[in-house]
Amino acid sequence: MTQAPVEPIAVIECGCCCCWHRAEFTGDCRNDAERFASPEQAANRLNSLVQVAYLDISDDPEIEDELSLSGEIVQPGSDDI
Ligand SMILES: [Zn+2]
Repeated sequence: MTQAPVEPIAVIECGCCCCWHRAEFTGDCRNDAERFASPEQAANRLNSLVQVAYLDISDDPEIEDELSLSGEIVQPGSDDI
């Protein structure tokens, strides 16, 4: 039996409020519980590994923008910025 890996929570920098949100969060930017100053703060407040994600914006309107999970993984316990 192999242990299931702990999935990091993807976080993405918001183009609207310049804060970070969980990638799956689609609610209101003013929701303070879902707003983080940095990936480090997200990791600490969610008490989970987080992964920095980017949105690959496609020039082709037929192709949906794709979430790219290519950023660094941040562990809880890192310094808040
Ligand atoms: Zn926002």
